[in-house]
Amino acid sequence: MKDISIIAVGGYDEVGRNMTAIRVGKDILVMDMGVRLDRVQIHEDTNVECMHSSDLISMGAIPNDSIMSNVDGRVRAIACTHGHLDHIGAISKLAHRYKAPIVATPFTADLIDQEIKSEKIFRVNNPLIAMSAGKRYQITEDLELEFIRVQHSIVDCVFAALHTPKGAIVYANDFKIDRSPTLGEAPDFSRLRQLGREGVLALITETTNAGISGKTPSEQIAKDLVWDVLTGTEETKSGVLVTTFSSHIARIRAIIEAARKMGRKPVLLGRSMEKYWNTAVRTGYAEKSNDLFVCGRRKNVDKALKRIMSEGKHKYLPIMTGHQGETGATLSRVAGGETDYLVESGDRVIFSAGIIPQPMNISNRHIVETKLKMRGARIYDNVHVSGHACREDHWELLRMINPEHVIPSHGNLVSHGQYLQIAEETGYSLGTNVHLVRNGQELIIN
Ligand SMILES: [Zn+2]
Repeated sequence: MKDISIIAVGGYDEVGRNMTAIRVGKDILVMDMGVRLDRVQIHEDTNVECMHSSDLISMGAIPNDSIMSNVDGRVRAIACTHGHLDHIGAISKLAHRYKAPIVATPFTADLIDQEIKSEKIFRVNNPLIAMSAGKRYQITEDLELEFIRVQHSIVDCVFAALHTPKGAIVYANDFKIDRSPTLGEAPDFSRLRQLGREGVLALITETTNAGISGKTPSEQIAKDLVWDVLTGTEETKSGVLVTTFSSHIARIRAIIEAARKMGRKPVLLGRSMEKYWNTAVRTGYAEKSNDLFVCGRRKNVDKALKRIMSEGKHKYLPIMTGHQGETGATLSRVAGGETDYLVESGDRVIFSAGIIPQPMNISNRHIVETKLKMRGARIYDNVHVSGHACREDHWELLRMINPEHVIPSHGNLVSHGQYLQIAEETGYSLGTNVHLVRNGQELIIN
């Protein structure tokens, strides 16, 4: 029988730059190739297309895949579970080193295609295969990849199950257990339970929110929060600005619906807002609409803001980039008085996002909020729920699919430790069937 190992390439010492290789005999499936956003000071509005992979590796910004040359095997396929940059952002820098197709769901594949096309240094010619949730891809004679529908803070997210002769290896990066999503369907629980009955050899799981008690609230709750803040007020004549994750199509749709309820025209502002919204329209997750303005380029954003000022702020609901206070994003420029949109006393600014807890974000966000407050704006903070599973969601997944081995990933030692506690409470034991691995290590599981 062929031996099976899990190679932790990136994302095992940190949140970000995810890359995991699963080796079955001499055949390898690579899961995700992501960037670590805070290391290149990029967010949704910046790109690293002009940087070389070796520089990015030495900065710790992308996975150090040099360890792959010591692994005895050949990469047969690369698969990505969703379109966040910490899962697909290094494809354009690393994928060309492997002669293997890239498999992803249609929305994710479209984003990967854009990443590849905007790359300035490397030519990535790997075939790109769009495969929907519920479908399978034959990698070799005895290896098959299956996508299983799940929910997260971006549409078209899946678990990847690699079917091997010794059972399935499930890669669960990232997910939330959301039974009432506002876009797309709930996770495919019946398939997951079935997998559990058939036999899951290993689960590789994210640990981002493993330290947070309880369950992650459904996106429906976030929608209610957004609607409550936007429509539940007597202050209907003031200017209102909303900022959120531009890749969070479900959330943006909820904000757009609320705008219509308020009798205001929704306007999407910022380069990444345009990018993700157009991708959603192309892949059927959003509809083209005549009463929705989408402006990406700075010139067009500024023109739209000027028009809003001249026609009346109360007629519009601008939805913009800049929830982390990113310099150069639309909200920062508005707060700094760099556009024609005048923030006045009593205008409301809604952050439909939490602060990603990095010192740089905390500081940038503080600056933007202070500038807005100095102009008299009212701030509505954290109108948001997370897209990552919390403690009881992790416990539930373990019980549902009952894996033989568990490998915490997408986190640091702290979040892995927090996950370990959940696993031990569920009957696993460290070193026997739950394994802590660090970047650069290969774990032989069978
Ligand atoms: Zn994600």
